[in-house]
Amino acid sequence: MADYQYDVLVIGAGPGGYVAAIRAAQLGMKTACVEGRATLGGTCLNVGCIPSKALLHGSELFEEAAHGTLAKFGVKTGPVELDLSVMQGEKDTVVKELTGGIEFLFKKNKVDWKKGYATFKDAHTVEVAGQTVTAKHIVIATGSSVTPLPGVPVDNDAGVIVDSTGALALDRVPNHMVVIGGGVIGLELGSVWRRLGAKVTVVEFLDQLLPGMDGEVRKEAAKIFKKQGMDLMLSTKVTGASVDGGKATLTVEPAAGGEASTIEADCVLVAIGRRPNVDGLGLDKIGLALNARGQIETDHDFRTAVDGVWAIGDVIPGPMLAHKAEDEGIAVAENIAGLTGIVNHDVIPGVVYTTPEFAGVGLTEEAAKARGAIKVGKFPMMANSRAKANREPEGFVKVIADAATDRVLGVWAIASVAGTMIAQAAQAMEFGATSEDIAYTCHAHPTHSEAIKEAAMGVQGKPIHM
Ligand code: FAD
Ligand code: NAD
Repeated sequence: MADYQYDVLVIGAGPGGYVAAIRAAQLGMKTACVEGRATLGGTCLNVGCIPSKALLHGSELFEEAAHGTLAKFGVKTGPVELDLSVMQGEKDTVVKELTGGIEFLFKKNKVDWKKGYATFKDAHTVEVAGQTVTAKHIVIATGSSVTPLPGVPVDNDAGVIVDSTGALALDRVPNHMVVIGGGVIGLELGSVWRRLGAKVTVVEFLDQLLPGMDGEVRKEAAKIFKKQGMDLMLSTKVTGASVDGGKATLTVEPAAGGEASTIEADCVLVAIGRRPNVDGLGLDKIGLALNARGQIETDHDFRTAVDGVWAIGDVIPGPMLAHKAEDEGIAVAENIAGLTGIVNHDVIPGVVYTTPEFAGVGLTEEAAKARGAIKVGKFPMMANSRAKANREPEGFVKVIADAATDRVLGVWAIASVAGTMIAQAAQAMEFGATSEDIAYTCHAHPTHSEAIKEAAMGVQGKPIHM
C-alpha cells in the first residue's frame, strides 16, 4: 500500500474545512489543511458571517441611539455621531481575533497549515506553492465566491460597484446605495448602510424578497423593509451599468421585459448569489466532473465519485451556510475515521440577521402543503409579553405540522431574536417532535421563545394569549 504523508488533507480552511481538519486530528488522524488566504476561517470569518454581523451590531447600536426607543424609556442622549472608521476598526479586530483563534486551534490539535492554493496531481496528491503533499484522503472544502453579473463589473477598490466584500469595507456612507438582489446579503448589508444613513434601493428579479423562505414570511419582509425606508423594486432586472465620476448609472427593466429606465447611485452592491470555487483545483486530473450548477456531487457520506476524495460545504449542493458546512466537516471526518457521520439536511436552520430577524427551519407552508395535509399554528409577536415590554411588536411565529401525525414539519419566525429562537425548533424537529410536544414544554416567562410554544398550541387550536 502506498505511503502517504498525511491520513487526511483538507483543501480550504473555511467553516467546513477547518472543522473537518480539527475533527480529523481529534480522531487521531495525521492531518493537514491547505489555505490560500493569508488568514484561516474562509469566507465566513474573513469576509462573510463575522464581519457582516459586527457591522450589523454596530449599525444597530447607532440606529438605536440616533432614532430608536432610548427616549421612550427615558434615556436621554446628546447628539449622536458616527465614527465609521472606529466601527470598521472594531469589525477588523473581531475578524483578527477569530481568524487567529483558528490558527491557535490548528496548533493545539496539531493540524499542519499548508499555505497556498492546492491543485490536484492525482487523487492522493496535490501541489501547494511548489510543494507536493500526499494524503490517503483528500477533502475538498473550497467554498464559494460571488456570482458576477454580466454588464455590472465589480471594482471593490474604486468602491462604486462592489460585491459583499467591498460593501463590508466602505470608508464612507453612500448617499444612495442600490442593492442588486433582495436575498440575504442584499438585505443584511443594505440594512447596515441604511441604518448608517444611506438611501437604499433594492432591485430584485423575483416578485418577492428572500427566495427559499416561507411565502408569508417573504411578504411580511417586504412590508417591514419598506416601512424601514428601503425602496423595493421587485420583478425588476438590471441589464447594465456605467460608472462616471464616482457615480453609477444602472439600466433596469421589468423582469418580464418592457421599457428600460435608469437609476443613479454612488454605490451599487451586487448580491445575486454565490458559486462554487472549483477553478484551478485540477479536477480534470482526477476525472471528477461537476453537475449542471458547477457543484461537486457527493453521496450521503460526502464521498465524491473518485475514491479517496470527499467534498463538503458551499462547493457541494445544499444551502450555502456556515453551520451546514461545519456539520458536514464533522461528519466527513467521522466517516473517514470509519465512524458514522450524519447531517440531517432536512433540518438546517436559516437566519437573516436584520432587525427584526427572519428565521426558519424545515419546510415552508407551500412545500409542506404540496406534500400532504397540514395544520398550521400562528402567534403574533405583538401578543408576546417580552416583545411587548421591549417595544418589539413586529413579526410572528408559525408552526407547521403534519395533519395526521402532528409531527412538526417546519417553523418560521420573524422576531427581534428569531435567530436564537429557531434553535429550539431545530432541536425539537431533530427529535421528531409533535406540535403537542412543543406546546407542553415549559418555556421560561417572559421570553420571546414563548411565542413558539403559543404557535404550537395554535396548531391544536388553543393558544392562551390571543
Ligand atoms: P468558505 O468559507 O468559502 O472557505 C473556503 C476556503 O477555501 C476559502 O478560505 C478559500 O480561500 C479556500 N480555497 C479555495 N480554493 C482553494 C484551493 N485551491 N487551495 C486552498 N484553499 C482554497 N452563513 C451563515 O451560516 N451565516 C451567516 O451569517 C452568513 N453570513 C454571510 C455573509 C456574507 C457577506 C457572505 C459572503 C456569506 C455569509 N454566509 C453566512 C455564508 C458562509 O460564509 C458560507 O456558507 C461558508 O463560509 C461556507 O463555508 P466553506 O467552508 O464551504 O467555504
Ligand atoms: P441569495 O441567493 O440569497 O439572493 C440573491 C437574490 O438575487 C435572489 O433573490 C435572486 O432572485 C436575486 N437575483 C439574481 N439575479 C438577479 C438579477 N440579475 N437582478 C436582480 N436580482 C437578481 O444570494 P446572496 O444574498 O448573494 O447570498 C449568497 C449566499 O450566502 C446565500 O446562499 C446565503 O445562504 C449565504 N449568506 C447567508 C447569510 C445568513 O445566513 N445570514 C448571510 C449572507 C449570505
